[in-house]
Amino acid sequence: MTEPRIAIIGAGIGGLACGLALQRAGVPFTIYEQASALTEIGAAIALSANGSRELARFGCLPGLEATSCEPTELIWRGWRDHTRVAAHPVRKDCAYRKTYGAPYFGIHRADLQKVMRAQLHGDVIRLSHRLTGLAETDQGIRLEFHGEDSDVVDLVIGADGIKSRVRDYVARPGAIRYSGTSAFRGIVPTKELPHLPDPHAIQFWMGPDAHLLHYAIGPDGGDVNYFAVTEGPDEWPDPERWVIEATREDHLKPFQGWDEAVTEMVSQSHHFARWGLFTTKPLRHWHKGRAVLIGDGAHAMVPHHGQGANTSIEDAVTLAGMIASEGLANLEGLLTRFARLRRVRTTAIQKSATATNHVLHLHDEADLQARAARLKKFPDEFGWIHAFDTSKVKSEPTRNIRLRAR
Ligand SMILES: Cc1cc2nc3c(=O)[nH]c(=O)nc-3n(C[C@H](O)[C@H](O)[C@H](O)COP(=O)(O)OP(=O)(O)OC[C@H]3O[C@@H](n4cnc5c(N)ncnc54)[C@H](O)[C@@H]3O)c2cc1C
Repeated sequence: MTEPRIAIIGAGIGGLACGLALQRAGVPFTIYEQASALTEIGAAIALSANGSRELARFGCLPGLEATSCEPTELIWRGWRDHTRVAAHPVRKDCAYRKTYGAPYFGIHRADLQKVMRAQLHGDVIRLSHRLTGLAETDQGIRLEFHGEDSDVVDLVIGADGIKSRVRDYVARPGAIRYSGTSAFRGIVPTKELPHLPDPHAIQFWMGPDAHLLHYAIGPDGGDVNYFAVTEGPDEWPDPERWVIEATREDHLKPFQGWDEAVTEMVSQSHHFARWGLFTTKPLRHWHKGRAVLIGDGAHAMVPHHGQGANTSIEDAVTLAGMIASEGLANLEGLLTRFARLRRVRTTAIQKSATATNHVLHLHDEADLQARAARLKKFPDEFGWIHAFDTSKVKSEPTRNIRLRAR
């Protein structure tokens, strides 16, 4: 029997996870990545149990533990002062690991990619390969790359992120929408934040029309990665560019009058860019012919549950497991069932993440007691996201999740 020819487009989180899962199953593959090196500056990932348990199965746990920080607690606070609204232990007493069966990590994205890459054997990634076109042929699906290069494969897995070229082939145009919110991000040395209570916790500061999330990254929690979200602008000014110039004043203004821990953090930033937050509308089809989507290409979401990367890992492991056990003989059936397995959960998380934006941006006259009561019940409200384990889902996805998006 000839070996299947499988191409993964994109060596981001989903693409690397897909490679690791296929490698574990002994299925050959090649990853094509447009960048000339696997680095992304200035971004971090909160890796929750549903993602970290899969990476542990690939042998990544020692690498993750050596490069990341496990938060002490998950804490929500208001905006005026640092009174705790709700809190749950994470590293303390190993509470999170005991509940969800795997750790929670704050990690620099480049470190995460390095740890994942280190577990991939051989020369399986072709860098500087930007996919520009796809076409079905009698021999398979033909991939065109920028320059002269091309390849013909039996299956192409589009792990090429929110601006997916593979999605342009699979779905109708117009799949992306602006969320009406935008963000400022930064990484600040923890020692520069003397007013920050619980610097090694993952914390949300919530105020009218804005919130700030931060967590420590690096092995000793030496840096704090923050992500400050504000409502607006109503229309995104440039559909081609999702990161636009901003001034220092733009960056500081939404947080004027907030607790000193917050103003101190945002005022440390030296990069004043505004990130538009975009999502993928739920797609009718995740595949066409020999091309299938995983990760942000299929279901990009606002990052308020920290689940884009984690669900991309789940997609990758699920798809690779199906390929390993069924082969590609009935590709149409396999890809249809894959999307059915993954769609319910990812759509629920997308909706819940969008609804959470509203919860985090309540005005002072809103029912803040009700919000606090809900946040105190985090395991009941959001535990279904973290408890998920691909190895326990073989069919009938709706029985394995609870639709709590509201
Ligand atoms: C500010 C911010 C904070 C976030 N925080 C979190 C978090 O805490 N936790 C979490 O789980 N998620 C988080 N996310 C979301 C997460 O980053 C994404 O959901 C995740 O990276 C998606 O994985 P992916 O593999 O689909 O795409 P990506 O990781 O974006 O990878 C796509 C890859 O494809 C490559 N590529 C693109 N086009 C082509 C092409 N034509 N040819 C070849 N290669 C191509 C890209 O260069 C890239 O390497 C955050 C996102 C943002 C913006």
